[in-house]
Amino acid sequence: MSSEGHKTLKGRTMYIPEMCWGSAKLVAAAFGAVGIDSDVVPHSNDSTLEMGRECTSGEECYPQQVTVGDFLGVLQRGEKKAHEVAFFMPRAEGPCRFGQYTYLIRKILAQKGYGEAYVFSPTSEDNYKEMGGAATDLERRIWQALVTANTLRTFFLKTRPYEKTAGTCDRIYEEEIISFQKVLKNPAFNAKKRRELLAEALEEAVARFKQVPVHAGDFPKIGVIGEIFVRQNPFSNDDFIRKLEGHGAEAILTGIPEWVAYTRSEEQRKLRDVKRHFSKAMLTSKIRGYIQKSDEHSIRGRFHDELKGIYAEPEIESLMKLGEWYLPQYGALGEMALNAANVVHFYNQGADGVVDLSPFSCMNGIISEAVYPKISRDHDGFPVRIFYFDGTQSNLDRDIGIFMELVRNYQRKKKSAKCLS
Ligand code: SF4
Repeated sequence: MSSEGHKTLKGRTMYIPEMCWGSAKLVAAAFGAVGIDSDVVPHSNDSTLEMGRECTSGEECYPQQVTVGDFLGVLQRGEKKAHEVAFFMPRAEGPCRFGQYTYLIRKILAQKGYGEAYVFSPTSEDNYKEMGGAATDLERRIWQALVTANTLRTFFLKTRPYEKTAGTCDRIYEEEIISFQKVLKNPAFNAKKRRELLAEALEEAVARFKQVPVHAGDFPKIGVIGEIFVRQNPFSNDDFIRKLEGHGAEAILTGIPEWVAYTRSEEQRKLRDVKRHFSKAMLTSKIRGYIQKSDEHSIRGRFHDELKGIYAEPEIESLMKLGEWYLPQYGALGEMALNAANVVHFYNQGADGVVDLSPFSCMNGIISEAVYPKISRDHDGFPVRIFYFDGTQSNLDRDIGIFMELVRNYQRKKKSAKCLS
């Protein structure tokens, strides 16, 4: 295992940022299976955010302030000394500031006197090389964790807006995540056995969601896209999805596996650009892609009939083609290209609108916002609205209400266009 200077993960507890609680819990279990004691950082709150703000200049991205605050919160609780703690902070090359997070976090921890804490930071390119012999097993466990958590959340969000007793779906979701942890944490199961067990556990979880007493109805379906951390993390987005549901809508949230598939397709595109079509790197990437698709097919694919149409996760290659006209993958990198493609995807699948949840001053958000009016005009006035977050929301409920008015107008137009055709 290589290290940051003299540091290693041995003897430390590693904390994972809470982007999406369920996914982070299962990723922690995956690390546990390869002998790394891991957990998710405690939920963010106003004082952790304040700590994050105090050590940043204001020019950093909001997710970075939240994450730094969460890490400092762990250390300030004092339950563990800095040399007993590690923080998981994956890195990715890309067009924005994400690549700088790790360096700044290390600097802040050192300035605060926590220089002995280890920031474990595998890159999107080295694929956990730091883990040595356990890297392949760990990478696959993490992928299975992400697919399982994402599938569970799809059923959760599909049911919660209609539940008769508030809190029922939240409870089921949390209980099921804890039960999936047991499968992912067990080092005895090989990858094939593990995915079978995860799929079976998911079937039981889905059966529980189906038994939840619900109100009849079919709410407007809203695609939720945007910056990956803010759209997934309820603290950062001011619990947007719950508020949206309060306005009588159902959210379809784009998941983390989409980003993994995107980075893989980018890796292969870059290899093709430098004429390395038949290289070892290309072969490795293709095999990894094949294995990931096969796991996804075994886990999520089991629910094909229930998760088709608007709930389906499109193949990344066909998804990216949808946005080519607006922000092509070959010119615009990262989430902005995914955002444009997803708006068209949700329109094609019959959604009633799309919201983009992005951090204030996020480069991806700003560029996406610039093309949304054109995409909307080209698609029958499909409602698309960006919501920016920096922890100072004033009247989110009112703004969601205004957006939902647009959605209902669009629904009426959609219905009359259908009657006339
Ligand atoms: S996507 Fe936006 S918020 Fe995230 S690192 Fe890049 S610029 Fe910052």
